[in-house]
Amino acid sequence: MSMSDYYEVIDPRFARLFNGSGQVQRLATGMSWAEGPAWFGGGRYLVWSDIPNNRMMRYDETDGSVSVFRQPSNNANGNTVDRQGRLITCEHGGRRVSRTEHDGTIVTLADSFEGKRLNSPNDAVVKSDGSIWFTDPMYGIDSDYEGNKAVSEIGACNVYRIDGDTGEVTAVITDMVRPNGLAFSLDEKQLYVADTGVTHVPGTPAGIRVYDVAADGRSVGDSRQFCISANGLADGFRLDSEGRIWTSAGDGVHCWHPDGTLLGKVKVPEGVANVCWGGNKHNVLYICASTSLYAVRLMVNGARYA
Ligand code: MG
Repeated sequence: MSMSDYYEVIDPRFARLFNGSGQVQRLATGMSWAEGPAWFGGGRYLVWSDIPNNRMMRYDETDGSVSVFRQPSNNANGNTVDRQGRLITCEHGGRRVSRTEHDGTIVTLADSFEGKRLNSPNDAVVKSDGSIWFTDPMYGIDSDYEGNKAVSEIGACNVYRIDGDTGEVTAVITDMVRPNGLAFSLDEKQLYVADTGVTHVPGTPAGIRVYDVAADGRSVGDSRQFCISANGLADGFRLDSEGRIWTSAGDGVHCWHPDGTLLGKVKVPEGVANVCWGGNKHNVLYICASTSLYAVRLMVNGARYA
């Protein structure tokens, strides 16, 4: 491949974000649907989900080895790491958000709202106050393919907040079709949420909405469309340390300036579902793409918790 095969510059501002010799490398393959990457800096390994195969995988950066991290995984989907370094997991099959404690115990953080079971938590992010915000579309109960077929008890696909102190679950966004990936802006004054609702409701904008976080930091107010995906769906995404959004798309990873401009693309041979930053310098973008895990070392660093 020539170097240009890996990147597409759409806005000149994208050119300094990558090194022309930096390759998109396939680190692992053989998954059915790779999702939910999460980086553990202390151990220098990545954990991600293979949803239909009911397992979570582990990539060790120190020697390149790949192994099964957890099986069965309750058809785990999105993963993230909280401020104490604990694994937070969205489980389709378990219909819950779980946390893996330092001793390995897995505890339930949320499995219901107002007495009704959650649909199938998809992706989660941890805010600086210790609260966990997660999306709850129905992909894990639509069929047995990536969870367990069931009828929604809630009857809606919301975004929820788990209070870091009390564990109370509140609905923070109730006007989306299929909320999916999410991340806070660097100052946590805005919350970006992808809506993949076009899979069920034609005409739903396939992109990312941005919500103003209320002054109390516990709810959101006004929202607007942040971007419309230039190819396929925006599913999971992460921010870099300068606030740009690196999001999944049908033809790779798209980089959006916070002003809403599509800056460029990292081209990936398979459709991308989710990404996260890792590596000792936090400048490696790990990419979960259909059957494979890819990585690319960039000229920017990821935001630690956005
Ligand atoms: Mg997702």
